[in-house]
Amino acid sequence: MNWINSVVRPKIQNVFKKRDTPDNLWRKCGSCGEMVFHRDLVAAFNVCPNCDHHIKLPSDERLKLLFDRGEYETISVPSVPSDPLKFRDQKKYTDRLKDARSKTGKEDAVTGAVGRLDGSEVVVAVQDFAFMGGSLGMGAGEAIVKSIEVALDKKCAFIMVAASGGARMQEGILSLMQMSRVTVGVQRLRDAGLPFLVVLTDPTTGGVMASYAMLGDVHIAEPKALLGFSGPRVIEQTIREKLPEGFQRAEYLLEHGMVDMVVHRHKLKETLGRLVRLMMHQPKAPQSDYQLPAAPTAPQAAG
Ligand SMILES: [Zn+2]
Repeated sequence: MNWINSVVRPKIQNVFKKRDTPDNLWRKCGSCGEMVFHRDLVAAFNVCPNCDHHIKLPSDERLKLLFDRGEYETISVPSVPSDPLKFRDQKKYTDRLKDARSKTGKEDAVTGAVGRLDGSEVVVAVQDFAFMGGSLGMGAGEAIVKSIEVALDKKCAFIMVAASGGARMQEGILSLMQMSRVTVGVQRLRDAGLPFLVVLTDPTTGGVMASYAMLGDVHIAEPKALLGFSGPRVIEQTIREKLPEGFQRAEYLLEHGMVDMVVHRHKLKETLGRLVRLMMHQPKAPQSDYQLPAAPTAPQAAG
């Protein structure tokens, strides 16, 4: 490499780099490649305004999207032993946990919350893919079980928003146990006659798909979400066959009866609200039904 390449070129590149807009102001859509203004994306709950691609949504944003006025109470989760197996791959499991916690500001992959959705009281548990791929470990299992208990207590519907690469291998068998623990929880909801609704987001795979994500009374998927047990690449390599177009995508699963509906993120709340009212035999008219005490918008209270 001569001096033009090794000295002059990087310098020129640096000059141009400084002129670039800061990364956090613009985000590139993974589907159409268009640069989208950060604030527009947040306002659209991470749906690309250009191509309607549903970009992964952080759990807090998801809760804000679902609960009335974005208000909810987070369910506190009993702490679980961290790193019981003293697991280490390229990195210590405790370090991975630390990184994920500082990145997301969450204790673990699942956050449970209770509040009103379209007027109805519901418990929502959201799995955040940003936290170690939304993997199901003891912490996540505990959060889901605790959320189910709150739903049982309040006799309200339970909504699980799933996104996961599967079980958390760093916890071995203890992680796999969460599949059956949560399944028992789902059965308790069923025994109590309470609805269990599952929202499948991109991607939901592995042990999560093999347990509670497929046990809902209704399965709602976000458009084009990748849903399956093992990923398409693994299957293709195993069976040595080309997979059909759109395989394991939400629309494909809808066609084949694994999913009940594919719903746009902007229609998700009203769809869930309608389902909850229907299944809980609650009256219609959500707006007039429910008002928070400090609601500023209720001028038409003419007697
Ligand atoms: Zn796009």
